[in-house]
Amino acid sequence: MKRSEFRKDIVSGEWVLFVPGRAGKPTDLAKKKKPRVPSPKKKCLFEDPFLNVDDKVILGYASRAHGDMRKDWELLVLKNKYPAVVPSKKRARKTPSSRFSESSPGVGYHDLLITRSHTKNFAHISKREAFQIFSAFRERYFMFLRDKNVAYVSMSHNWGKGAGASIFHPHYQILAVPIIPPDISRLLRGSSEYFEKHGQCAFCAMIRSEKKRGSRIVFENRHAIAFCPYASRYEFETRIFPKRHRAFFEDTPDAEMKGMAEALQFVLAKIEKNLADPDYNFFFNVAPARNKNQHKDTYHWNVEIRPVAGIPGGFEYDTGMEVNVVDPEDAAAAIRK
Ligand SMILES: [Zn+2]
Ligand SMILES: [Zn+2]
Repeated sequence: MKRSEFRKDIVSGEWVLFVPGRAGKPTDLAKKKKPRVPSPKKKCLFEDPFLNVDDKVILGYASRAHGDMRKDWELLVLKNKYPAVVPSKKRARKTPSSRFSESSPGVGYHDLLITRSHTKNFAHISKREAFQIFSAFRERYFMFLRDKNVAYVSMSHNWGKGAGASIFHPHYQILAVPIIPPDISRLLRGSSEYFEKHGQCAFCAMIRSEKKRGSRIVFENRHAIAFCPYASRYEFETRIFPKRHRAFFEDTPDAEMKGMAEALQFVLAKIEKNLADPDYNFFFNVAPARNKNQHKDTYHWNVEIRPVAGIPGGFEYDTGMEVNVVDPEDAAAAIRK
């Protein structure tokens, strides 16, 4: 891409304006940062979570079988101290929409997942621990499915202050909410329209086309593939997909989950090294928790990585259209390097 160009995401229907080269070399974007300094370990609340939040532990994995959880914990899922949504035994009903308003009670679950090391983020923990995070997400997912109030489960990670992490110690958010969020609705609608038109999963088609082209691929193993999408909304945005058609995160077999976790670790380590350690978010785009039959052929779960690079301005806020100053091919080459 030599000049500016508008590109449309075939699934979400969103347009993106590419202005390659506006910010100089692709990697210049991520080079302006100060070095990352861990917060003092002594003051970290997550160093002894049983002391600080004993009644809040929902789930824990220890480093050895029959280990003492308080001493040997490796991963814990805790109740969030300031939950955005709270569980309810009553069925949450949306108020009938009037001409002025429509609402739904703030019911759901808000968990916090923490791993043991104060400094090792997802890229640097062991393969086993990385898979454990995926397993814990899945375990909680199945718990949430039992609650009829839950429509969607969001799993995400913020790394660095610029990405919204207020605590340095690596931690992950799990939020189960009673509505299907707008970005997910768009993906669901777009992918089922695509299926109707072309008789195949849009994401599978995308994976095939990326494989053929090759230049936007960042990483591939037996079960997973990572690439910078054709219509990336953000600089260095990378998506990781299971290679086999898989609508549902929670039904993914262990071998494929491990492949996905490995791909995520690999890409994050590359981003850290080759883009000068930017802050980033990653999150899971999964199918809704209800009416699974509706999505089984059309949806394909994936993990999205979004390094913090450009700052949006008035144009983006006005139009809802992102401006991306890095050609996704250059982004992939810079990450792969
Ligand atoms: Zn810590
Ligand atoms: Zn698919």
